[in-house]
Formats: sequence, C-alpha cells, structure tokens
Amino acid sequence: MKVLIVEDERQLSEALAALLRQDLHEADAVYSGTQGEDCAMTGIYDAIILDVMLPGKNGVDVLRSLRRQGNSTPVLLLTAKSGTEDKIRGLDSGADDYLTKPFASGELLARLRAITRRGAEYIGNEIAAGNTVLNKDTHELRGEKGAVKLAAKEYHVMDMLLSNCRQIVPKERFVEKIWGFDSEAEYNSIEVYVSFVRKKLAAIGSNLQIKSVRGVGYALEVPECSRD
Ligand code: CA
Repeated sequence: MKVLIVEDERQLSEALAALLRQDLHEADAVYSGTQGEDCAMTGIYDAIILDVMLPGKNGVDVLRSLRRQGNSTPVLLLTAKSGTEDKIRGLDSGADDYLTKPFASGELLARLRAITRRGAEYIGNEIAAGNTVLNKDTHELRGEKGAVKLAAKEYHVMDMLLSNCRQIVPKERFVEKIWGFDSEAEYNSIEVYVSFVRKKLAAIGSNLQIKSVRGVGYALEVPECSRD
C-alpha cells in the first residue's frame, strides 16, 4: 500500500519510511501539518501516519479538516503523550487508531494492517462482519449457532461497533448516541450493556469479540479472512 508519513522529526520519519519500504509498501514523507493536509487531500494514499505535534497545523486539526472535507483515508495518529485526553481528542476527530511514542516497529505495522483491512459489510438492512449479521430493522443478531433479539441499547452498542469495525469507539460516543448527552453516570452503564452484548455474541456462536481499550472505549475484533 501507499502510505503518507506526516512527522517533523526527521530521524523518526526516515525510520518509518525505511520500515514501510522493508515491508514492501510505498512511503512519502512530509514534515508539516499544512503539507500533510495538502498531500492527504490528493486521495492517493491507502493510509496516513500522522503525528500530533507538528509545525504549521497540529495533527488533530489536520485530521479534523480532512474528515470535514470528506477524506476518509485511514489515519494512525502518533501521540507523544500517554494522556487519555489526547487519545480521545484524536479518536473523536476521526483517527482510526493511535500509537503512543515510543513504539515497537512490529506494532506500527500491525496497527496499519488493522486500520486498512476491510470492515463490516452492508447488505440491504443488514450489517455483517465475521460470521455474524445484525438486522437493522428487527435488531436481530445472527451467528453460527442461532439468533437473538437485542434490546434497544444493546442494539446501539452493537451497531456502533459494527459501523466502526476494528476501530476504537470512545465511551463518550456511546453515551452521546444512546442517551443523547454526556453524563458521567452513564459511563458505567456502557460497560453493563457491552457485557450483555458479549454474552449474546457468545450464545449465538459469533466469532466477533469486543475488546476493551482501558480508559478509552471499545473495539470490535474480527478474525481475519472469516468471510472469504
Ligand atoms: Ca512532532
């Protein structure tokens, strides 16, 4: 694939480019937020590695601007801080995943593979991933061993995870979608609904797994090649 690297630390940028080329990808590097945005908007890239701290325009602002202009290229955000705040801001701005510096090269390649893989498929009023199908009208969840009907809040949880397949969905976004406002009290409720959905997934023999991302949110894991 063709990857755009937006990172002003030359050494890191060069190391990233070398790593990608070694893994048989094409890599272009630019060193400021404004350059990054211009290149990304050409739409020729399969993925973008975007640093947060950049001269010109910071990574989160670049990302916001890209998404606002309809650019949906998968973005892996590089953050120097391990603070949850930064990650949530990035994910809310449309990042597909983030990586905190310093990181292992193997992890970077794995994250890139994950964000560029195909997500869930829409077939009429159904959305499918792995061996599992969710019906958007009847709220029925179907797996290899059977089907269950999801309650309203469970349905929203599952629908959001499927629609953002393999991406981290922040807890805030669940709360906003389900309760329509940001309330601290509802954060624990999300965990409860996620646990209900997990039990139902297991009951129908689904090969999907809801992964908890500590302090941030949840992501739906889909086994590779399960629909081929
Ligand atoms: Ca930087």
